[in-house]
Amino acid sequence: MQKFDVDLFVIGAGSGGVRAARIAAGHGAKVKVAEEFRVGGTCVIRGCVPKKLFVYAARFAHEFADAAGFGWTVEGTRFDWPTLIANKDKEIARLEGAYGTNLDRSGVEVVRQRAVVEEPNVVRLADGTRVSARIILIATGGHPNLGLDMPGRELAITSNEIFNLARLPEAIVIQGAGYIALEFASLLAGLGAKVTVVHRGDKLLRGFDEEIRTRLAEELAQRGIDFAFGASIDGIYAEGGRKRVRINDGRDLFADEVMLAIGRTPNTTGLGLDKVGVHLTENGAITVDDTGRTNVPSIYAVGDVTDRVNLTPVAIREGHAFADSVFGGSPWSVNYDVIPTAVFTEPEIGTVGLTEEQARAQGRRLDIYKTDFRPLKATLSGSQSRTFMKLIVDQKDDRVIGMHLIGEAAGEMTQLAAVAMNVGATKADFDRTMALHPSSAEELVTLRGRHSSSDPIPEASAEATPAI
Ligand SMILES: Cc1cc2nc3c(=O)[nH]c(=O)nc-3n(C[C@H](O)[C@H](O)[C@H](O)COP(=O)(O)OP(=O)(O)OC[C@H]3O[C@@H](n4cnc5c(N)ncnc54)[C@H](O)[C@@H]3O)c2cc1C
Repeated sequence: MQKFDVDLFVIGAGSGGVRAARIAAGHGAKVKVAEEFRVGGTCVIRGCVPKKLFVYAARFAHEFADAAGFGWTVEGTRFDWPTLIANKDKEIARLEGAYGTNLDRSGVEVVRQRAVVEEPNVVRLADGTRVSARIILIATGGHPNLGLDMPGRELAITSNEIFNLARLPEAIVIQGAGYIALEFASLLAGLGAKVTVVHRGDKLLRGFDEEIRTRLAEELAQRGIDFAFGASIDGIYAEGGRKRVRINDGRDLFADEVMLAIGRTPNTTGLGLDKVGVHLTENGAITVDDTGRTNVPSIYAVGDVTDRVNLTPVAIREGHAFADSVFGGSPWSVNYDVIPTAVFTEPEIGTVGLTEEQARAQGRRLDIYKTDFRPLKATLSGSQSRTFMKLIVDQKDDRVIGMHLIGEAAGEMTQLAAVAMNVGATKADFDRTMALHPSSAEELVTLRGRHSSSDPIPEASAEATPAI
């Protein structure tokens, strides 16, 4: 039998690569992982984790405002961006250390340099070292798109840079309307920046439930975010320490920063994949089968580099399934049907399963249950923000096949509802579940009255007025 230096060489120590490496090592494999930037990958270093810390920071602004109606006098509040950045950096460094320690403890050797594929069973490191491996796993993630060339594109930042700006921008223009663009729009507005979102289309969050898309645009506008729909940035010009942003409708916007959040591209350029003949999709993602295997039998890929569902828990699951299947003797593959996800805007969105539009496109006959209410907290805080909830039920078997929420704690509710949906809960199961009162979540188990999408929603529904 051919001898290899290692059983598994993982390229990329992000969410998918770290999980795969640790599980494979646990199954007795000799594993090396190469990381060219920082262990932990996008999620830990410049994605989910620092972003959520920023979201927490921004939410204090609303909490301070809401507190007055409950009798509090909150005076002299002041936000200090450098403090947030320094504390965030400390936490990210701690997490990076913990990831490294866990890999060490699992017996995985971490090589802190870039690696590329040289042959179907050989990886070459930046220092020229060649390492042979029975299996190579590519878990290199993706990077932000910069879009088409335009004057001054180099003046724009992406999500990579926003986490380390020296100053909170007083004004920022963000191009894009996906979840990353909108989360930053929302949190920067919360921290006090004047935010303008420039978007080529006419609606936010493509792929989300239509009613949620509309509601979010209304809520963000109410919080002072400006939208330029049907527009794109034609050029960025440095002027007097600021940036003049030329919009294609001829308008000029002035801002301290311009952020491009127009999608991400898989990290496959220069990886040597063409040399060994690994198939890529048109946008450069690695094509894999259910087990993560590419068309080259010794090479697998997981996570964002395969551009399937680009979320951390999905990358982790794919890495785990790969390691169990290839090194643990117990093959399984990821179920992509019930993936809960949140958009950490203010208000927050939580969604799981099919949208109404997707379900109808599949020819299903649906019952739609929805409610739109002013949360109990808003009665004293005076906040105008409302909560909207929608359940999509398949008439065929009464199963809840989609849930879409916008309002406080939507993400937390969605995670638990996903458990029920994963085991095939029906609307009758939701109805049989005792309500927890007073909460927003209880609305999900007390929803009555089917709607077609165009029906108005009864006003009375609210946490404060339980159905009796
Ligand atoms: C701003 C932002 C916010 C996000 N928020 C969320 C969220 O709230 N929830 C969520 O689920 N997901 C979120 N995501 C997505 C999430 O971060 C990714 O889906 C996840 O990190 C993908 O994991 P991965 O292992 O595929 O790749 P990554 O985590 O990107 O890891 C890939 C690693 O490979 C390294 N690498 C690349 N090429 C090489 C090479 N040739 N040699 C050595 N190393 C290499 C990279 O440096 C990187 O560390 C967010 C992403 C961004 C950008």
